[in-house]
Amino acid sequence: MITNGFNIKTIDEATIAGKKVLLKVDFNVSLTKKLTIADDARIRQALPTIRYLLNQGNRLILVSHFGRPKERDSHFSLKIVAEHLHKLLPKYKVTLIDDFLSRKGKKEIAQQKKDEIVMLENIRFYKGESENDPGFAKELASLADVYVNDAFGAIHRPHASVVGLPKYLPSYAGLLLKEEIEMLSQVIKNPKKPLIAILGGSKISTKINLINKLMELSDFILVGGGLANTFLAAQGINIGKSLFEKECLNVAKDIITKLEEKHCKLLLPEDAVVGDPNDLGKQSMVYKIEKVPQDDSILDIGPETQIKYGAIIHKAKTIVWNGPVGLFENPQFRHGTDYIYYAITHTSGTISIVGGGDTLAAISKKEYLNKITHISTGGGAMLEFIEKGTLPGIEALKHVS
Ligand code: ADP
Ligand code: MG
Repeated sequence: MITNGFNIKTIDEATIAGKKVLLKVDFNVSLTKKLTIADDARIRQALPTIRYLLNQGNRLILVSHFGRPKERDSHFSLKIVAEHLHKLLPKYKVTLIDDFLSRKGKKEIAQQKKDEIVMLENIRFYKGESENDPGFAKELASLADVYVNDAFGAIHRPHASVVGLPKYLPSYAGLLLKEEIEMLSQVIKNPKKPLIAILGGSKISTKINLINKLMELSDFILVGGGLANTFLAAQGINIGKSLFEKECLNVAKDIITKLEEKHCKLLLPEDAVVGDPNDLGKQSMVYKIEKVPQDDSILDIGPETQIKYGAIIHKAKTIVWNGPVGLFENPQFRHGTDYIYYAITHTSGTISIVGGGDTLAAISKKEYLNKITHISTGGGAMLEFIEKGTLPGIEALKHVS
């Protein structure tokens, strides 16, 4: 039983041996411009569960989505992922099933060998997936004896392969899902204080509910990125041409008012690196936040803000970080994000939790990743889990096992 009150079974608490297992994974990797896998972390993170189940003599049928295709589209084929998985598990043949509903597909799955892993083609090629069509879920269920979900990155989606399948098969959580739930629950249920949240990214609109939840849990919320700009504008500060969300000014004001009643403090940048996002040749400059020139944009937190945020981060016992604090894609504006990353990884005795697609992209090349307690594999899923305390795919595992 997963701790923290989640009444679901994990694969290491059950005996699943010699079975056909339908294993939901998140192999939604990003590709380079040359269409090779940019980062195979998502595939490697599923390996403990895959190996665990293989070692118990199970035959695996992997189910994943890849990108957001509207219909069957070879640009979104999992072929490259299947080939990569074979490289990681060379003793196993990996067979990609083009269409598991076809007679040919069904036959290939029925003839699966012990040393063969079957992978279904991109599950979002089928309408029934995102519509959570019960007939479609039943078709999937008919392929296997047992269902295991290890796809934390997709656990917030009410899709057939996430919430539909557990209705028809004995269902369990994989090892990655277990770790995600346990680590993230620590933050929500019983965090070691002080808890410091660092929030960046481009938009406040996608993170309003998260901020509302974090203000209940945190001692400090350190804000950067486009998110900070909306708060600054809401306070009447002139932010020049900076990215912000006009329609969220009132929401930002509300949050600031609500915070007055909480013991949580929200900190905004006091200085900024300023430039022109459309003119890469233009030299960036540091300004105090009240002095940002009318024709420029705030594109990173400034050095004084870095020091201030860094000092608070060093006092933390728990840290949650989501969102780059600057336009990190441009090297002129990535210093603030680097600084946050170094501050987190050089603070000892702290539980640190980091997640978000762009956040991970911003730090993935660096050497201190192993100093982060938990790198969440779900961007949206992590934020929604912190906000709601549970997610549809977790609830779906509950009532059957
Ligand atoms: P995550 O995927 O980690 O949740 P988001 O998608 O919320 O992060 O935000 C990441 C994006 O925010 C990046 O593309 C980054 O360039 C952008 N960003 C951060 N700060 C700024 C800024 N000051 N101005 C414009 N864009 C910014
Ligand atoms: Mg993003």
